[in-house]
Amino acid sequence: MAGQKALAAKLAKVAEEAKGCTRCSLYRNATQTVFGEGPVGAKLMLVGEQPGDQEDIAGHPFVGPAGKLLDRALADAGIDRTQVYVTNAVKHFKNEPRGKKRLHKKPNRYEVEVCKVWLAQEVSLVKPALVLAMGVTAAEALAGRHVTLARERGKELDFGESQPGMVTVHPSSILRVPDRTARHEAYAELVKDLKSALKVLQAA
Ligand code: SF4
Repeated sequence: MAGQKALAAKLAKVAEEAKGCTRCSLYRNATQTVFGEGPVGAKLMLVGEQPGDQEDIAGHPFVGPAGKLLDRALADAGIDRTQVYVTNAVKHFKNEPRGKKRLHKKPNRYEVEVCKVWLAQEVSLVKPALVLAMGVTAAEALAGRHVTLARERGKELDFGESQPGMVTVHPSSILRVPDRTARHEAYAELVKDLKSALKVLQAA
């Protein structure tokens, strides 16, 4: 327990440092750094791509529409979100102003690469038994190689330094599915992946 307290204190210090990060230009166009949240020692870590519009304003990961869908999927899979560490590969919201809106822009390889300094510290301090990457950006940041979702989804992967990992879709991709039936199917697949992750954890 004392060890976990020390790790939590270190993680809080890293989160504080990340607030002032200027390693790439994304901080200029965002409100704040959105660091990961959840307990040190969490068995499961979820990693998305980057904060969205609402996360950027709130300063917390996965609180917008994709976060709400994720909460529902976690509950349906029998996973308590309060016991999960949730973060993103990139800690600032990359966006393009369009009228009153700010449109999401995919971070480029350089931005993902330089931001890995924060994700790597989160993984090493939280020490999850399993990291579930949500989307290819997160999976590639963690695996350090090209990842093909269709081929590797649901399989056990190596995220470096013997860190067990898996990959699923990003919840926001489900929100973008226009057809209702297809959207329900995509949601069911996400729940299935979360259940698979839970099975891996229970077997560990
Ligand atoms: S996106 Fe990451 S690397 Fe770039 S400024 Fe923000 S925290 Fe730093």
